[in-house]
Order: sequence, then C-alpha cells, then structure tokens
Amino acid sequence: MKISMVSEHASPLAALGGVDAGGQNVHVAALSAALARRGHDVTVYTRRDAEDLPGRVRISPRLEVVHVQAGPTAPVPKDELLPFMGELANGLAHDWARRPPDLVHGHFWMSGVAALDAARRKPGGSVHLPVVQTFHALGTVKRRHQGLADTSPVERQWLEPSVGQGADRIIATCSDEVFELKAMGIPPEKISIAPCGVDLDLFTGSGRADKRNRTHRILSVGRLVPRKGVEVVIRALPLLRDAGFGDVELLIVGGGGDATATESDAEGRRLLAIAAELGVREHVIFRGQLPREAMPEIFRSADAVACTPWYEPFGIVPLEAMACGVPVVASAVGGLRDTVVDGSTGLHVPPLDPRATAAALARLLSDKGLREELGRAGQQRARARYSWDRVAAETEKAYLQTVTANATARRLGAAGQVHAVEGAVL
Ligand code: UDP
Repeated sequence: MKISMVSEHASPLAALGGVDAGGQNVHVAALSAALARRGHDVTVYTRRDAEDLPGRVRISPRLEVVHVQAGPTAPVPKDELLPFMGELANGLAHDWARRPPDLVHGHFWMSGVAALDAARRKPGGSVHLPVVQTFHALGTVKRRHQGLADTSPVERQWLEPSVGQGADRIIATCSDEVFELKAMGIPPEKISIAPCGVDLDLFTGSGRADKRNRTHRILSVGRLVPRKGVEVVIRALPLLRDAGFGDVELLIVGGGGDATATESDAEGRRLLAIAAELGVREHVIFRGQLPREAMPEIFRSADAVACTPWYEPFGIVPLEAMACGVPVVASAVGGLRDTVVDGSTGLHVPPLDPRATAAALARLLSDKGLREELGRAGQQRARARYSWDRVAAETEKAYLQTVTANATARRLGAAGQVHAVEGAVL
C-alpha cells in the first residue's frame, strides 16, 4: 500500500524533549518504519521549519520524509500553526497529484484538517482518497485539564470534531480515548484501537547504566510542560525524606536544550523555585534534552520512573521504562491505565497527588524484591504487547478495513446508480 503520513508539527527527524517534540514524533517515525518493514511505501509529510532542510529525505528504500513549505521556515509553536494548514494542504495535493497514495493517515487534529482538505481535492483523479486519523491528544480533554492555560486556537473546538466526522476511520491509542471520541459524537464502528509502541531493540534491561550520585534515583522523562506533573514528584521529595528516604535524587530529562538551558527556561526555573522552597533543591538534577540512543542507560540507572501527568493521551515513557525493566509510578489517567498494570508492572497513583506519589515511591525504594518483580513483569508486558511491529500490524488492519469499506461503498454506490438509471429507463 502507498501510505501518506501527515504530521504537521512533529517531524520524525526532530530532536525530542522540547515543548512540542515528544511522543508524536516517536510514534510517526517508528510506525512509519515498521509499516515500511511490512512492505508498504510510506511518505511522511511534515512542515519545513528550517531553511537548511532538504525537500525530500530518503530514510530507507520504502520510507521517505517530505518537508512541505507551510508558513515560516522557522520553528513556530504548534498552537500557532492553524493559519498555515491551507498551504500545507496545497503542498500535499501537489505531491499527491504526481504520487497518489492509497491511503492518508493524519496525526494531530491540524494535520487532519490539511489532510482532509487535500484529499477532498481528489488529487491524481482519485475517486475518494481514504483518510485515517490519529488525534494523539484531544482538545476536549486538554481544555478540561488546562482551562484558560490551554493555548489551542479557539477553532479547535469545532475543527477537531469535524476532522473526526470527515475522516473515514479514527485510530485511538487507548481505551480512554475511545470513550472521549464517542462523547465527541464519533460513531463507535468508525473507531479502531492501536496503541503506541516501544523500540524493543533499543530499550532493553541489559547494558550500561548511567552513574547515580545518591543511594536512590527517581527518574522523570518528557517535555518540560506543567501538565507532565514533574512538580508532583518534586513535592513528593520532602515527604519521602520524612519517611526515611533522604538520600534520593530526582533526575529530570527533557526540556528545550542542555541542562543549563533547561534550568533557565520558564518551566525549569519554576520547578527549581519549588524545589528550593521545599528544601530539596540539591536533590533535583536537570539533565536537559537527550538523544534517543542515550535514553536506555538513563532508564536503567533508576529505581523507579515517575510518570505523574495531570492527564496523558498515551505516554511512551512508561513503556520505555517497562522495556528496560524499571517499575513505573503512574498517574491512573488516559493511556497509562492501559499500559501500566497496578501492582504488576508499576503502581498507580491519583493525578496531582504528591502524598500518594511519595507513598508509592517509598514502597518501591524500600523493597528491592518488589522493584525487580515489577520490572520483570513490565519487560514481559512491553515485549508481548507493545512492539512497533505488532502496533504496525494492528494499524495495517485498520487501514485495510478502511480501504475495503471504501471499495464496498463505491461498488454499492455504483450499483445504486445503475439501478437508478435502469429505473429511469424503465
Ligand atoms: N525523549 C527523548 N529525549 C528527551 C526527552 C524525551 O528521547 O530528552 C523521548 C522519550 O524517551 C519518549 C518521548 O520523547 O520517547 C516522549 O513521549 P511521551 O509519549 O511519553 O510524551 P509526549 O511527548 O507525547 O507528551
């Protein structure tokens, strides 16, 4: 199958850990590569956000990234990209006219807007170009949790549901998202589930581990934005100290540059001020943004990985921790409820709850046997369920369902027309 992925802000080639570069980039890159390994020809379209980016980058014989001119050739926050989606659609339609895909897969609502716009122009004389959509995050959920701090453009309120209505199929990444999609009015028969995966060749339990400076290390990995809940873990540190775990460091990986840049950006400064106020400043270490290849040894160095977001559409970090055999303390929200099994591969805590987070961490830090048991079970679960090859197979199933349903609808439509003509003649 010729598959076009559209990922407006999240390039598979971008560095990870910045405000707008994280799970979606990993998802699009790894899913595309796995689909290419299954014999599909995959082209990923993303916005050209730097002058020196070539128009087309071939990653492997069946996988290519195309940088489309859409707005300034400079970084633009994702929530400010909507005005450029028409230009992105022009670029897509132009390329599809010469290289028509069999199916388009939009990632994030804005890509869905551009993908549907371009597909409806019937590039290359296509009768109907099927569009599958993965939202990655939903505006309804974001607004519920972030309220006025949500910087999404106001148009998201009606454009996102209309992408849901217009797409031929929606792929949700977790069961919680299915519930949200149904609440948005998406018919359940149009929804498939395919989770995110983890690179099981890279994230393994054996190999080098980063050196820690204290007896215990807790790890937090991700984009440095408030909703990821790093503050909750910092607030858990004095409680841990009171519970007898004083020699603990919290290593924070992610942010908009190296450790110094991260410490001085607004969120880094805010977190450090909280740590200083609570008397745990010297227990908090920022490592800055790290490349993927550096991540496994970081995971292996931790006693526990804390994923305590306010909400989480999916969350690849817990899977990476599990694949490395490290137990996860996870907010019981969104995708984390599917991936982290409470009491088996990690411990669930309510979101925004430093006390519960400290209690869960104390349980793990005090019991090496429990850590090892949960780590082993996490590894098994990641291997059994979350390889990208398996995710690609599930995604392919959703694609085939979409293409078949389209062909059937066209046949029935054509038969209906013949019928109508025959009726007219008679
Ligand atoms: N990541 C990374 N380097 C960093 C920070 C994060 O490689 O410095 C990766 C992390 O390992 C994970 C992804 O970025 O693969 C974050 O994905 P997740 O789904 O957990 O969060 P999202 O960014 O989607 O909110």
